[in-house]
Amino acid sequence: MQTRVPRYNYAAQFGPEVDRMMADLRRMIVEGAYILTDKVAQFESSFASLCGCRFAVGVNTGTDALILALRSLEIGPGAQVITQANTFNATVAAIVCVGAEAVLVDAEEDTFLIDQVQVTAALSNKTAAVIPVHLYGKPTPLDDLTTIARRKGFHIVEDAAQAHGAIFKGRPVGSCGSLACFSFHPSKNLAAAGDAGAVVTNDEHLATHLKRDRALGQEEQNHHLSAGLNSKLDAIQAAILLWKLPHLRKWNLRRNAVAGWYRERLADLPLHFQRTSPDELHAYHLFQIRTDKRDELLSCLRAKGIDAVIRYPVPIHLQPAFRSYGWRAGQFPVAERLARELLALPIRPDMDVWEVDYVSECIREFFLGRHR
Ligand SMILES: *Cc1c(COP(=O)(O)O)cnc(C)c1O
Repeated sequence: MQTRVPRYNYAAQFGPEVDRMMADLRRMIVEGAYILTDKVAQFESSFASLCGCRFAVGVNTGTDALILALRSLEIGPGAQVITQANTFNATVAAIVCVGAEAVLVDAEEDTFLIDQVQVTAALSNKTAAVIPVHLYGKPTPLDDLTTIARRKGFHIVEDAAQAHGAIFKGRPVGSCGSLACFSFHPSKNLAAAGDAGAVVTNDEHLATHLKRDRALGQEEQNHHLSAGLNSKLDAIQAAILLWKLPHLRKWNLRRNAVAGWYRERLADLPLHFQRTSPDELHAYHLFQIRTDKRDELLSCLRAKGIDAVIRYPVPIHLQPAFRSYGWRAGQFPVAERLARELLALPIRPDMDVWEVDYVSECIREFFLGRHR
């Protein structure tokens, strides 16, 4: 039988608690406890404290979290929002959805994070927000940008969809911006059993706005203050997330251990890694290796049962969805190189050292030309 190294193991995430969790879900389903129940409130308050924030507002998806966050800041037509060309599509789709103009800047060659020198150069009197993405789980240092934001009067909205529990200089990701947006999509470090998301903030006024806006602008029953969305965190998803949340820190530490094993075993090969810093706890949503032989390496690994994937093969400025912006190939060269050269290897908190040995050995054979 072929060896397989998968990217996800949901059974391992639930562990032996699965039966007790199912009893909990069964009770909720039979009792009809579905919408904005105490489970949702409990999860929101636990997740807010993990992020070092006063408030969390549970919503339907990470994309909706971004849309609702921008709406709470009253960002819409006429406003510009700056983000990076190498992010996941949802960051930019959210900006377009609220009617604002997306302004792209390139990424840094070694951290893959937003290039803050380019952000400063891209600021205009229309800049309403900057969305730095804690990409692949690496926290973006926000000290300087926060100072500039305060002086110039724009907001920082953190896209933390890949970085639950990441820490920079002792501060949890999500606590630096005006707002931060999380996704609990099944692929993420903290995974629901379906779609789910949240916005966190320290601003009570924004939290109140978000709570109203996720529920059709309803202040109380039959009294709608604004035309809102209907995007609430599902109570069943909240219950599942509550079961998993206490394990998140341990899981992130295990992801760091796995990343360390990979780095050790691959150190002498012609590869590059995302640069790390001693000031951070990386969440390692993805473990990326960088090589100009990426496509050949990917087919070689997949043929050996290793679930490596490309995240993301097409940068934002070359996506048909944003054609009307008139962005051109060559405009964000770092993002384009990363799109051509990055390969995400399987990384899971439950991963065994033999799996890392196997993946690393296959990569070594590939580079030594013995992969046939
Ligand atoms: C997953 C993700 C999102 C969107 O989250 P969904 O829950 O899938 O809508 C947004 N931004 C980034 C960087 C992501 O990785």
